[in-house]
Amino acid sequence: MSYIASRMSRVQVSPTMAVTDKARAMKAAGMDVIGLGAGEPDFDTPEFIKEAAIKAMRDGKTKYPPVPGIPELREAACRKLKRENGLDYTPDQIQIGVGGKQIIFNAMMATLNPGDEVIVPAPYWVSYTDIAAFAEGTPVVIECRQENNFKLSPEQLEAAITPKTKWLFLNSPSNPTGAAYSRSELKALTDVLMRHPQVLIFADDIYEHITYDDFEFATLAQVEPGLYDRTLTMNGVYGAGPKELIQAMNVIQSQSVSGAASISQWASVAALDGDTSFIAEHNKVFKDRRDIVVGMLNQANGIDCATPEGAFYVYPSCAGLIGKTTEAGKVLGSDEDFAAALLEQEGVAVVFGAAFGLSPHFRISYAYATEDLEEACRRIQRFCGSLK
Ligand code: GLU
Repeated sequence: MSYIASRMSRVQVSPTMAVTDKARAMKAAGMDVIGLGAGEPDFDTPEFIKEAAIKAMRDGKTKYPPVPGIPELREAACRKLKRENGLDYTPDQIQIGVGGKQIIFNAMMATLNPGDEVIVPAPYWVSYTDIAAFAEGTPVVIECRQENNFKLSPEQLEAAITPKTKWLFLNSPSNPTGAAYSRSELKALTDVLMRHPQVLIFADDIYEHITYDDFEFATLAQVEPGLYDRTLTMNGVYGAGPKELIQAMNVIQSQSVSGAASISQWASVAALDGDTSFIAEHNKVFKDRRDIVVGMLNQANGIDCATPEGAFYVYPSCAGLIGKTTEAGKVLGSDEDFAAALLEQEGVAVVFGAAFGLSPHFRISYAYATEDLEEACRRIQRFCGSLK
C-alpha cells in the first residue's frame, strides 16, 4: 500500500517545470538541446533592483518579514495599482507572496469548499486547474479555440456559471497563447459577472507590461468598479483584493511559508517604485522575436500560428501533423507525441498543448536568445518537413 496521500491524485508535476527540467538534464548530459519550455525572460535583472537586494542584506534586513509582506512593499503595490490601474487599495488589502503561484494557492485554500466550481478558460496556465483541484474545488474548463482568438465569449461564460461557481480565472495577456482582452472585450465579460454575485474573480495580470502594437492593457476591477469587492488582482509579487479574503489568505501563508524572503521584498520595492524604462527596451526585443517565430512557424508544414497581442508565448496548432509518421516510424497521435518526437529527433523542447487544456497545439516561449529561436524554428521546419 502506498503511503502517498489520496489528495496527490488531484495534482501532477507542473508540465512547464517538467519540460524545463528535462531539457536542462539533456543539456547537462551533453546533448544538443534548445529548451523553449519555461516562460522566463533571458534578460538580466536590472542593476538598481539587484542593488536594492544587496543593500537590504547589508542593512541586516534578513529576518522574518511580517506574514502579509513588509509594509513598504504593500505600500509600493498600492501606489502601483493607483498609478497604473487607477485602483484604490490600502496595505491591508495586499498580500505579498513568493510568486504568483503562491497567491493562487493561498486564495484557493482559503475559499474553496469541496465541490465549489472554478471556471478556467482553456488554454490555461497549467497550474490553475491543479491548484483548484488540490484545494478540493472542481475545475470547469471552457475551450476557447484559435478561431475565436483563444478568448472566452460572454455567452460561454454565462453558460458555464452555476450556483456552485466560486471563481473565474482570467489571465490577460495569456499564458500560453499571448492573447489579451481589450477593454470592450472585458466589459462584455464583466456585464455577465455583474449578474452573478456569487462569483469571485481571479485576475492574473502577470504579463500586464508585455504587450505589443499599441495594445492597451486594462484589468477587470478597473473596467467594472462594481466587481472591485470580489476581485483578486494578482501581479507576481502581490495579490490585491477584499480585506476579508486577504486576511484568510494570510492565515494560510502564516502556516506555510510564513512570508516571502525579506531580501526579495526589498528588491521588489525598488522594482515597483523605480525607473521602468527597461521594460520598453525588453518589449522591443520580444516583439522582434515574436515576429520571427510566428513567421518561421507559419512556414513549417502543417503548423498554424496566430500572432499574439502580449506575453512571450505562441501557441501554434499542429492539427495538420496529427496522424503523420516520423522518420523513426512513430505515428503522431497527439500533441504530446508531437512534442516528444520533436525533442527526440531535433532536440527542441516545447510544452505540449494538452497540458494547457487545448489540443492539438504546443507552446513556445520566445523569452530566449534570438539565435536560439531561429535555430529552433529551422529545426521545427525540418521536423515537420520530414513527416510522412
Ligand atoms: N511562467 C512560467 C511558465 O509558464 C513559469 C513556469 C511555471 O511555474 O509554470 O512557463
